[in-house]
Amino acid sequence: MNIEQQINSLRDELREHNYKYYVLDQPSITDFEFDMKLKELQKLEAEHPEFYDPASPTLRVGGMVTKNFETVAHEHRMYSLENSYSKEDLEDWEKRIQRILGDVEVEFTCELKYDGASISLTYEEGQLVRAVTRGDGFQGDDVTNNIKTIKSVPLQLKGDFPPKFDIRGEIILTLDGFAKMNQERIEAGEDPYMNPRNTASGSLKLQDSALVAQRPLECLLYSIAGNNLGISSQFEVLEKARSWGFKVPTVAKLCESTEEVMQFADHWDINRHNLPYETDGVVVKVNNIQHQEELGYTAKSPRWAMAYKFKAESATTVLNEITYQVGRTGAITPVANLEPVLLAGTTVKRASLHNADQIAKLDVRVGDTVFVEKGGEIIPKITGVDFTKRSVDSAPTEYISNCPECDTELIRKEGEAQHFCPNDTGCPPQITGRIQHFISRKAMDIEGLGGETVELLFKEGLISNYADLYTLTKEQVIPLERMAEKSAENLVNGVAASKAIPFERVLFALGIRYVGETVAKKLAKAYKNIDALMVASHEELVAVDEIGERIAESVIKFFSEPTNLEIVERLKSYGLQFSLSEEQLENQTDKLKGLTFVVSGVFETISRNDLKKLIEDNGGKVASSISSKTSFVVAGDNMGPSKKTKAESLGVPIISEQEFMGKL
Ligand code: AMP
Ligand code: ZN
Repeated sequence: MNIEQQINSLRDELREHNYKYYVLDQPSITDFEFDMKLKELQKLEAEHPEFYDPASPTLRVGGMVTKNFETVAHEHRMYSLENSYSKEDLEDWEKRIQRILGDVEVEFTCELKYDGASISLTYEEGQLVRAVTRGDGFQGDDVTNNIKTIKSVPLQLKGDFPPKFDIRGEIILTLDGFAKMNQERIEAGEDPYMNPRNTASGSLKLQDSALVAQRPLECLLYSIAGNNLGISSQFEVLEKARSWGFKVPTVAKLCESTEEVMQFADHWDINRHNLPYETDGVVVKVNNIQHQEELGYTAKSPRWAMAYKFKAESATTVLNEITYQVGRTGAITPVANLEPVLLAGTTVKRASLHNADQIAKLDVRVGDTVFVEKGGEIIPKITGVDFTKRSVDSAPTEYISNCPECDTELIRKEGEAQHFCPNDTGCPPQITGRIQHFISRKAMDIEGLGGETVELLFKEGLISNYADLYTLTKEQVIPLERMAEKSAENLVNGVAASKAIPFERVLFALGIRYVGETVAKKLAKAYKNIDALMVASHEELVAVDEIGERIAESVIKFFSEPTNLEIVERLKSYGLQFSLSEEQLENQTDKLKGLTFVVSGVFETISRNDLKKLIEDNGGKVASSISSKTSFVVAGDNMGPSKKTKAESLGVPIISEQEFMGKL
């Protein structure tokens, strides 16, 4: 190989690794190996400037300084979007569309509305030639040097791309990346940034691209502009762009009705908080490009697209008091008690303040006028203070040093945001919290017993741990407030019935820290009974699939405390299930060991949940979304089209219910 070939092959290799790491989130070599190859390429390029290539992966590290960002005209205008806030708005829009298009079937592509800074990237012959901010839609700033440092922006495309086109997207900061940036700033004594969106947008106009390169920016793409692109639908735009190497989120969905669009919107209104980045709504687009052309544009926005905004309504009100809640693990949560205010249709009196750092960061003080916001979360949060309304004699909030319930001095471990009350055996809300967890639906699911009754039973001295529930008698319970013969009987019967709850749920119910539902299942399966688990060593525990150091330590700690051992012994004597049943043992195999399944659609002979259980009982894993790690997709009727395309594009085999059963 001559030098030029060597340089080119290194460039190709690094490009592929960048793609795997930043677009697919699936690196195949270590960071160290990547750095070594990059260094090698840098060295060769420095020695041979004659082989300069503006698309070389070495240009990702930045270093170009832009003093003045040149203004450039967009070849294709960048439009705004019209906003809608309700199902009615969307239905009105659909009617307007139908009136123009006449009696044809209209499909919609739904995407999330990524909250960042919009960008237009121009590609010629597969190479990124220019990146321009939206500006006023007609012209924007040339920020190419900065955009080139964003690793999910391909400098060189793959596949069969059109010779020339613009692609539009949003530059965002992931929430994780943003938090990390702020952490570093706080450690360096600098003020943290306000929000990911403004920070992403500000990053584009930094003069030194090396600084941009250090920021965890990403580019999510959603539309293409150009001539003769040979694409007939928006959904195809997304698929094509993906195939050329762009990062295009896969949550997009093809919908046939406004009903379906609303389902998508409602789903993401709640679930968007699990996404790694911020979104502020859904963008609905008429899928067929021909329809789009027929519909055209208003002065500002396309008639064929509509933004549906999530309700992140906010209000201002006065903070009357900060109180502190103690959870079942002893974690302290500060709560803002507010002057009642109407927000997104409900009256809000309380909001979470998360932890001491959050209070300090916002500098919230009693008496302040604060901004309250309610997104998809159930508990509203305080997003800021109206400093213009602060009285001159207000003093900074001092975080409590002792437990508000038991007065024990609070502790805060290295690297943890939360303060804790360490008095786990004597602190009332920790005691009742553990019992409430024990009886909860996913644990022992005790009918006839609720959280308030637990508090009452504790206050009356009838129970001080969950084992005590099993010795309660009807006669003891009847005299309690709001109890009657019938409800007392239900309670006692409910407790008795819980003795049949299977071992893995009993294990979850014990409330061992970090042992959630899934971990409890894993442990039950691996150890089969509690006696084996109680004597398991650290090495044995971490050898179990998905059990890490933290969980292992917590399990060992739990079973080393005499009070816990005593309670477990008592529960055993009452007849609770502390080992897997004969049936469970018989039905478990390792036939699917090492395989990961995604289940989609409706099945004939088995429910989805039973199917998932069957997979787990036979040693397989169930994942919720398809990735290259998925071994098989088990597809029933009505499998989601996006799952199907995703599986196909990743080459993951799709098997039927019957084929799956055949594996067992
Ligand atoms: P607005 O700024 O409220 O007029 O909203 C329009 C902007 O939404 C566009 O300029 C894009 O920057 C942004 N946007 C975010 N996600 C999408 C998406 N999936 N499709 C189209 N536009 C989007
Ligand atoms: Zn306490």
